[in-house]
Amino acid sequence: MQPNNTTCPICGSDNLTRFNSYKHHCFACGDCNTVFHKKKTGKYLLEYALPRTLCKKILPRQAFLRIFRDIGDFNPADFYDVYAKECTVESEFRRSEVNQLMDQFAVNGITFEGKSVLDISGGPGVVARHLREICDKVVVTEYSEIATRAMRETLGVETVQFDYAKDKLNEIFTEKFDIVLVRSSIIFCPDLDSFIASVGKILKPGGHILIETILPTLGEVFWWQQMEYKFPTIYAQETIEKYFYKNGFSLAYGYREYGSYIGIKQRCTKTISRKLFTWLIDYPMTLAYYALARKSRIPIDQKLHHKMLTQIWKKTEAAQNVQEKPYINYHAGESTKSTHFEYTYNGYLKR
Ligand SMILES: [Zn+2]
Repeated sequence: MQPNNTTCPICGSDNLTRFNSYKHHCFACGDCNTVFHKKKTGKYLLEYALPRTLCKKILPRQAFLRIFRDIGDFNPADFYDVYAKECTVESEFRRSEVNQLMDQFAVNGITFEGKSVLDISGGPGVVARHLREICDKVVVTEYSEIATRAMRETLGVETVQFDYAKDKLNEIFTEKFDIVLVRSSIIFCPDLDSFIASVGKILKPGGHILIETILPTLGEVFWWQQMEYKFPTIYAQETIEKYFYKNGFSLAYGYREYGSYIGIKQRCTKTISRKLFTWLIDYPMTLAYYALARKSRIPIDQKLHHKMLTQIWKKTEAAQNVQEKPYINYHAGESTKSTHFEYTYNGYLKR
């Protein structure tokens, strides 16, 4: 694949900087700052050095799939049990994730009581389970049939299979919703413009959509580089905003959060084998590709940090209001503990 026969899927520009990660050819657009990935063909680097058959026997499944290509090594149905179990486990962390979501709306005076809510890619359904207690109606979508079935059977919530690449929301739903949640999933959306247009068609006038997503940084590219089914696109904030304004929304609320992936790894590697994988493979590999990428002057945030955008948009007839409040930037730490950074949420949004 040559850079000169690739163009930006968002703005059509050929002003792209190409760079490599472990499993992908990555492209950063110099005009709209979007990052997109194409999976490499052929063997990944470590596959030349490590014996596949032996590694498949001795490595945990997750570790194996991070180093090797998936050529049908595992039965997808095996994931069902894991997913069904995740639906029912409610840790303190998961509960605080719900609290954070509630506060994002509460600080803007938006309530869930008596509302109808669509939670897009809302697996494993922890949020939906909480919302069904207070909302009039909750529908959760997931990409896989396994996940939608698991949530329906274990949580008793209404579920619908939805694939960003194939389905249109306004063709699936004839009813309209008060609130749509899109948390950490637009990175799988190949056409953000038409997706936001379809959200506009299923929202009631004055309805709200919450969007949460990572923004382009070298950290977001390299810390996820071993994913076998990696999200194809990291949209820039300007791109997201452009499409919301175009499709009749106004910005009600927004903030960014920054945090260290190293901090996240330290907080969430619970088993010895995960710790070993993180510090012997994941971290050195990230540093190696990062050092190479820094030489290429890639036109995005050069830091290795984790960067999250949270926005609430309101459906209006003529959306021209640019948010009047200044944008807030939070840095993850003791005073701003967010579930995005593997902390238990401590209520900082309300302070
Ligand atoms: Zn572009």
